[in-house]
Amino acid sequence: MSSKEENLKNKRILQELLKSPDNKECADCNAKGPSWASINHGVFLCIRCAGIHRSLGTHISKVRSVTLDVWTDEQVNNMRAGNRVANEMYEAKLRQPKPTESAPASMIDQFCRAKYERMLWKGDTATKQPVPASSITIETRAPTTPPPTKPQVQQKQIEWAPAQPDTVQVIQQAPKRESTSNFTH
Ligand SMILES: [Zn+2]
Repeated sequence: MSSKEENLKNKRILQELLKSPDNKECADCNAKGPSWASINHGVFLCIRCAGIHRSLGTHISKVRSVTLDVWTDEQVNNMRAGNRVANEMYEAKLRQPKPTESAPASMIDQFCRAKYERMLWKGDTATKQPVPASSITIETRAPTTPPPTKPQVQQKQIEWAPAQPDTVQVIQQAPKRESTSNFTH
């Protein structure tokens, strides 16, 4: 299959993926009919969020147009899970209302940085390989009380500040030992 044929086939697959109910809205602002994508995060985006992703840098998000760019099989395969599955992972711990289409770009920018750069709300994924126990590091955290379940109030300004308290550094001091050097000869 020539690269041209591969690209045409992949464009058809992408159009099919965009017809899925999971991909009818932008993964970040819920704008209808996304036609852009972040291939490393596997999310379909509206044109505005695609621009914001691009401004984050390619080390954070690799942006492609579904219609204008050339796609390889591998890039298309990264998109197969779709927006719903990706957001279940990236927003697993999100307890604040998401910005919407009408939110200012600065708010979407803050949201995307928290979501993809700092991965503030990322949950564990079932698709990931289990982590070997030897590589698990245990952090000492301040006791966290579960957030009270309050009705979702639409706020004017949302601060995408870390929801978790900072890791508390517990400094353990070794007990001092009296130097009793009684050398008797
Ligand atoms: Zn969007």
